[in-house]
Amino acid sequence: MAHRAPLRRVLLKLSGEAFSDPAVSGGIDPTIVSQVAREIAELKASDGTEVGIVVGGGNIFRGNSPSASGMDRSSADHMGMLATVINALALQDAVEKEGVETRVQTAVDMQAFAEPYIRRRAVRHLEKGRVVIFAAGLGAPYFTTDTTAAQRALEIDADAILKGTQVDGVYDRDPKKDADAVRYDEIDFLSVLNQGLKVMDATAISLCMDNALPIVVFELLREGNIKRVVHGENVGTLVRAANQAPPSA
Ligand code: UDP
Repeated sequence: MAHRAPLRRVLLKLSGEAFSDPAVSGGIDPTIVSQVAREIAELKASDGTEVGIVVGGGNIFRGNSPSASGMDRSSADHMGMLATVINALALQDAVEKEGVETRVQTAVDMQAFAEPYIRRRAVRHLEKGRVVIFAAGLGAPYFTTDTTAAQRALEIDADAILKGTQVDGVYDRDPKKDADAVRYDEIDFLSVLNQGLKVMDATAISLCMDNALPIVVFELLREGNIKRVVHGENVGTLVRAANQAPPSA
């Protein structure tokens, strides 16, 4: 049943965990990357939705993780940003194998591998039907790829951020630890911040709140879910301002 409007241009946020087998810690699982790529290609073929993607790097390296302990934080974050580029190239390969044209744009110049991030060029690619994969975060340490997703979504004028996760939405408690946890159908930004709910980090949520940019949190690996979210079906959790209409094209 659809209760939200269909979306025209979306920013899909894929965490590093979206690239790895949940049963294995870290790395890239080609089967999972191919599944995500197939879903994106099916969406392009059926709806022509414009898709920008921000990829994380947590499956490989995070600047604030124990494996970076003792390191200078900025250097560790540089490593984290490079990790996102590895994931972006893996995803690009998988999406192109599905017959969809893509471009990777990096926030830090590495032109032998990918285009530099240029907003107008990214928008033009989207208009031409290409999937644009944004890598290297914002190019600055102390930020996350969630904040990058909010930033890029605003810059490309996306209708919403689609945050694909391993759970099927936002819960009042951790559903993996508490069987009585209740999933929200919708929740407003301030409640997310006040309750410390793990949707995205506070910087990302604040940016979305200040600019009324809705977020849909949904289970990524459930077949057909990306399309359901784009069609406005009641999937996952919609995060928006308390008095805001649902996202629409
Ligand atoms: N990172 C950064 N600046 C950014 C985005 C990312 O320094 O603008 C680094 C940071 O070290 C982060 C790592 O890249 O831990 C991987 O990104 P993130 O943790 O957001 O990945 P995810 O949790 O989505 O897999």
